[in-house]
Amino acid sequence: MDVMEKLEILTASAKYDVACTSSGSSRKGSAGGMGNTTSMGICHSFAADGRCISLLKVLMTNRCVFDCAYCVNRRSNHTRRATFTPEEIADVTMQFYRRNYIEGLFLSSGILRNPDYTTEQMIAALELLRHVHRFGGYIHVKAIPGTDERLLSRLGLLADRMSVNIELPSQASLGRLAPDKSKDSILKPMGLIQARIRENRHDLVRYNHAPRYAPAGQSTQIIVGATPDTDQRILALTEGLYRKYGLKRVFYSAYTPVVEHSLLPALDTKPPLLREHRLYQADWLLRFYGFRAGELLDESAPNFNPLLDPKCSWALRNRALFPVEANTAPYEMLLRVPGIGVRSAQRIVKARRAVSLDFAALKKLGVVLKRAQFFLTCRGRMLEGLKVSDHTLLRSLMSGQELAAFREPQAEQLSFFSEAEAAGLPEPAAPADLFPGGPNSSRPLGEAAAGGPAAGGPAAARAESAYPPIPEAASGTADSIDALAQEASSGRTAYV
Ligand code: SF4
Repeated sequence: MDVMEKLEILTASAKYDVACTSSGSSRKGSAGGMGNTTSMGICHSFAADGRCISLLKVLMTNRCVFDCAYCVNRRSNHTRRATFTPEEIADVTMQFYRRNYIEGLFLSSGILRNPDYTTEQMIAALELLRHVHRFGGYIHVKAIPGTDERLLSRLGLLADRMSVNIELPSQASLGRLAPDKSKDSILKPMGLIQARIRENRHDLVRYNHAPRYAPAGQSTQIIVGATPDTDQRILALTEGLYRKYGLKRVFYSAYTPVVEHSLLPALDTKPPLLREHRLYQADWLLRFYGFRAGELLDESAPNFNPLLDPKCSWALRNRALFPVEANTAPYEMLLRVPGIGVRSAQRIVKARRAVSLDFAALKKLGVVLKRAQFFLTCRGRMLEGLKVSDHTLLRSLMSGQELAAFREPQAEQLSFFSEAEAAGLPEPAAPADLFPGGPNSSRPLGEAAAGGPAAGGPAAARAESAYPPIPEAASGTADSIDALAQEASSGRTAYV
């Protein structure tokens, strides 16, 4: 089989892996070397289905001794197989790089013989790239669960980013669908990579020329929709992973049925892309907006509302905390206002030191008033002429796409619901459930806050206390995926 044929098979097999961004690593091109990478990340392009294709995303081999039910490369699936030699991987990468097709390499692999042998092959390919071709571009490599820790240590010195895929969000799902993998074989390498990254930080401070270990950190991927696990479980697990293992990113991959299996969705099931999108939005809230997983979802509402983004859903469930006064509300509370992002919250805090802000000023600072107007006061007043009803509120909080799906009259709304149901999405909330006060509630925003709209008043004070600081990583271990999810959802701070 020639290299082009192999490339065709092994790039096609790699397309289900979505954990492939490249930001966070910086390296200058050296004299006589080839390529460089910057901490701003390389340019990405995205395929029609939203997946990143800017790196050469390829498998070393699609042969695999494991039999994960959801995977097209599993042992028992009949598919064309191919394996690259380390020389071929290095050569193809350099050829593509020289032609400006790619800016880096994303190397994953099925398990050939055993995890150690496969990792040795990957190390050989990366050594050729780094030491023979002097390739300085970005490399993201998958760590194979069950690999010996000495090999993982060597691998991390050659790559910018490493990742170990969790794939399934619970122990039970893992046992059913990926019987060859165990929680320990996944979490152990993650812990090891984190420990090596920490050690390396110290080494870099003490020694000028210490080699860098996975300078762009580690990430993982969770498959969404292959199992009955709820968004709540996935988000709690995500939170636990960020806290315990210091992950840079958790990626979510809407499950695309590729194999027939009694425990998996039917082959004609559409990938739950909207659910994947909601999880990315919530992930953003965890990392940059100070939200906790337990605030966004709980046992009574374990899945995200398909009609509203997670921040708006949270704000509607917590209407008693609003409105907040733009001129005095704490930064953390501003971040929770729909329509205010990190940059606009920072600009508000900076600007209000000099002037008293009104709604026109907020608009200039980048606030999306269409959403924020229902949750803010300026100088103690809400926007003049603002009509607050559940209907206007809902319409203002939904994006164009969501609105299109929610179009009146009701018949269209119903067709959206049935489509969502058919696609395996959680049953969307009835309009009444979107508003804690009921569909006909005329309770004004902030009524429950004593004194109503007041400059950073009781609502803001209460809100402030509702934001526990994210605890620093502590020592100790949580020994399973389930334990991580439980810890996160119970709000305990024992993430490690
Ligand atoms: S170990 Fe990886 S490549 Fe092998 S069957 Fe499982 S998911 Fe697929």
